[in-house]
Amino acid sequence: MPLLEAEGIRKIFGKLTALDGAALTVGENEFHGLIGPNGSGKSTLMKCIAGAEVPTQGKVSFINTDITAFTPSERARAGMSLKFQITSVLPTLTLYDNILLALQGHCSLLDLVFSRSRRQLHDQVMMTLTQFRLADRAFDAAATLSHGQQQWLEIAMALASKPQLLLLDEPTGGMSLEERRVTGELLRPIKQHCSLVIVEHDLDFIRDICDRLTVLDQGRVLATGSVAEIQANKSVQEIYLRR
Ligand code: ADP
Ligand code: MG
Repeated sequence: MPLLEAEGIRKIFGKLTALDGAALTVGENEFHGLIGPNGSGKSTLMKCIAGAEVPTQGKVSFINTDITAFTPSERARAGMSLKFQITSVLPTLTLYDNILLALQGHCSLLDLVFSRSRRQLHDQVMMTLTQFRLADRAFDAAATLSHGQQQWLEIAMALASKPQLLLLDEPTGGMSLEERRVTGELLRPIKQHCSLVIVEHDLDFIRDICDRLTVLDQGRVLATGSVAEIQANKSVQEIYLRR
């Protein structure tokens, strides 16, 4: 059984069909890239998986459970975590407190305080910040970070709860080339314990870190397969030339 399976996903907004039977399958420890032209439905599919949008039709299964009717927080508790294009960092709080709050999103604050010692909690927050090269900034306000560092903080927040699946929608938007390179380096090690679905325009970045790709076009899957298979696919080449 795959870790995540979304099948026959339709999403209609008024008169517009954003998704028309889209599908996505992701295995354990797999990095999966979701690509396609602007408006092809990538963000909508991510939201349908995370529960931020309710599909008009279709089914989403996660770890052998039908989660189609789950709320976003039930999905989070089941092991799914996401970062969307809109920021969730609280700029006046320290990096440390932002991570603490992200942890709280996955269980109640009382659970957090009573189930673990303060030391354990502190270690978990610092470990997450260290992984994302932000430990030396732990007690600075998030607003003092560069754009790239804020994106890393958000990914760190999404990973703090140790999810089994991370969903990232355009995490490198607005980053410099060097920041993108570092983002790839920061993401690679999480494969040992987590799968990833990533929406990204930078095809070199996608090729570099993903095992498999799904290409959306007008709300439908145009192709899905290994990076090599997708690169050799004539219809995929055409939609990218058409842009
Ligand atoms: P992508 O992320 O691939 O650029 P989106 O999933 O954001 O595409 O959008 C797919 C289509 O659905 C677009 O035509 C977009 O305008 C439309 N759309 C997305 N969200 C909404 C919404 N909340 N209401 C109405 N239309 C929407
Ligand atoms: Mg989008």
